[in-house]
Amino acid sequence: MIYLDHNATTPIDERVLDAMLPYLKSFYGNPSSLYRQGRFAHTAINRAREQVAALVGSSPSQIIFTSGGTEANNMALATLPKEGRLAISAIEHPSITEPALRLKHKGHEVSFVDVDQHGLITEAALDNLIRFQPNLVSIMLANNETGVIQDIAVIASRLTEKGILLHSDAVQALGKLPIGFDRLGIHLMSVSSHKIYGPKGCGALIFDKNVAINPIIFGGGQEQGLRAGTENVAAIVGFGKAAELAQAELVQRNEHLAVLRNLLENCLTTIPGLTIFAQAMQRLPNTVQFGIPEIDGEMLLMKLDQKGVAVSSASACASGGGKPSPVLTAMGIEAGLAKSAIRISLGQTNTEADILKFFNLLKPLIGQGSSS
Ligand code: PLP
Repeated sequence: MIYLDHNATTPIDERVLDAMLPYLKSFYGNPSSLYRQGRFAHTAINRAREQVAALVGSSPSQIIFTSGGTEANNMALATLPKEGRLAISAIEHPSITEPALRLKHKGHEVSFVDVDQHGLITEAALDNLIRFQPNLVSIMLANNETGVIQDIAVIASRLTEKGILLHSDAVQALGKLPIGFDRLGIHLMSVSSHKIYGPKGCGALIFDKNVAINPIIFGGGQEQGLRAGTENVAAIVGFGKAAELAQAELVQRNEHLAVLRNLLENCLTTIPGLTIFAQAMQRLPNTVQFGIPEIDGEMLLMKLDQKGVAVSSASACASGGGKPSPVLTAMGIEAGLAKSAIRISLGQTNTEADILKFFNLLKPLIGQGSSS
């Protein structure tokens, strides 16, 4: 199989698995227990907290471990004060748009921030946003479909001037871009383990200590009393190890991805009529989303699957809906072209041979000559 869907999830790194196994087999104590077994688990969580903090550029005490990016995003929006106003960008992941719509249903004013044809928040949209006087804004750092990177530091400084809190979903940016939570000047940030070769079902909300967190799960006093429930120790240990590796290998990983992405884009641009969305923008080093007129993206995905290639036709969590991607729609991409969209997201185990094989399999499927 040629796996080209690393924005959906990544395979676990063997070194991460090795770090996790002792916490599934031998050190199974509850981290809240006071005896030695419990203390081992507690210490392991604290080490993982330091590893994640080092990758995101925060202090360990600013990290709340969650069940993943979705929960972190839900927690971030739950900080909206009673009767507060919320604004989110028009290209957010469903784990932001859905809780935002629930808040709207409950009577909060919710506004959507437009993006331009490149998927960027413009100055004008930012001015409109500020006029709306929200209490909380959520704008993702890098988009999961197009890979487009927002200038979050600039947005954060404009909003902070006005006393507006900014949350950023950094799930796709983590491990692919150097991130400094404190340096970005944002107040809340979501990350997830399974996008950086860690286990699924684990993530974190990073928070500015001046922001009042409203827990969404109640019970024991875990995670500073902000997220109850016995910690998923092995997964947290795995997330920590994955974070340590991502930090140590960031440059080398991105060099590898740049070579592969250049090769892929050079191949793709030989296809008449093919558009690489937001090609001229600052994008994640591993992500390429393209459209081909008259082609149905979901059908193409299925045909590629039959040939042993895994790609995505839209956001992984939203696929199967048959509607054009809301992200591309927000960018003003015509519905027909948006429905043809295929996202390739590269990863560490991909090779140049994978790219060439993929391209040779793709060509006949879109009426561009036979497979060689
Ligand atoms: N945010 C973005 C941008 C994502 O791409 C995803 C997953 O695809 C999530 C949030 C959700 O993260 P998780 O799968 O850890 O719940």
